[in-house]
Amino acid sequence: MAQPPPDVSEDDCLPEYRHLFSPDLLRDKVAFITGGGSGIGFRIAEIFMRHGCHTVIASRSLPRVSMAARKLAAATGQKCLPLSLDVRAPLAIVAAVEQALKEFGKIDILINCAAGNFLCPASALSSNAFKTVMDIDTLGTFNVSRVLYEKFFHGHGGVIVNITATLGTRGQVLQVHAGSAKAAVDAMTRHLAVEWGPQNIRVNSLAPGPISGTEGFRRLACFRSLPMWLCEDVIHLLKLLSIPSQQTSPQPASKLFTGLWKPGLPQHPFPSSSWT
Ligand code: NAP
Repeated sequence: MAQPPPDVSEDDCLPEYRHLFSPDLLRDKVAFITGGGSGIGFRIAEIFMRHGCHTVIASRSLPRVSMAARKLAAATGQKCLPLSLDVRAPLAIVAAVEQALKEFGKIDILINCAAGNFLCPASALSSNAFKTVMDIDTLGTFNVSRVLYEKFFHGHGGVIVNITATLGTRGQVLQVHAGSAKAAVDAMTRHLAVEWGPQNIRVNSLAPGPISGTEGFRRLACFRSLPMWLCEDVIHLLKLLSIPSQQTSPQPASKLFTGLWKPGLPQHPFPSSSWT
């Protein structure tokens, strides 16, 4: 059976790629990918580019997307424009979309991949921490979709893919904020698909399960730095909580619950104050 890729500290392009679809599938298309500088967004950009697409990758950190763009362009020979934006700031999105249109003259595909996440029990989650995740994941997806609609998709058509998650489908401990935010995005997808579909704008969600080797997975994975007694407690807690067996996990479930807070710990591994 194929093994999941190891967790690495930074994203790189695939050492080799075998085309399952035509290499020209996305020839001369342009994709605007939020969160495209890392993890799933980075890999989506790479695969699109290996099929002839040009990309715009956008996130808050310009150095991150710039370095990613250099790697992507070098590996694929396609153009990749790195842009800095915060999906919570509509004016910054407008500026980025205008810059992308100036560079490429069109945008065919929007991938809403930017998100924020951390593990936290609902009882310790501040209102601000919850709101921050809703703001990035849910409102951010709406903000970017709406700007793209106004600036180009309206009148031209287009494709929007919202990257959501499976964790809210049945409910999962320590993830009430992310599950709620992604469920709202799935609902938004259905609304926009119905409202914008007649204008030749296709809107869909794609909900991955936990993907090892990604930035999001790494960010939650401080497992190895935790004391062994806590790791054992995490595993015990999982058994007590009976995580739904349908959960699609390429890794042992214990690896997913890596930043667990426990009463009595000197410091919450993901303090909600850092999200205020
Ligand atoms: P990730 O790198 O954590 O994805 C987040 C990206 O969003 C980063 O590049 C980050 O870059 C950007 N971002 C965060 N806040 C932003 C903001 N306010 N404005 C603009 N960009 C922002 O890695 P990932 O795990 O691959 O996640 C990608 C998507 O897949 C997310 O939507 C996630 O919820 C979803 N997903 C992931 C998994 C998994 O196991 N990894 C499972 C299911 C779903 P900056 O820090 O530079 O802004």
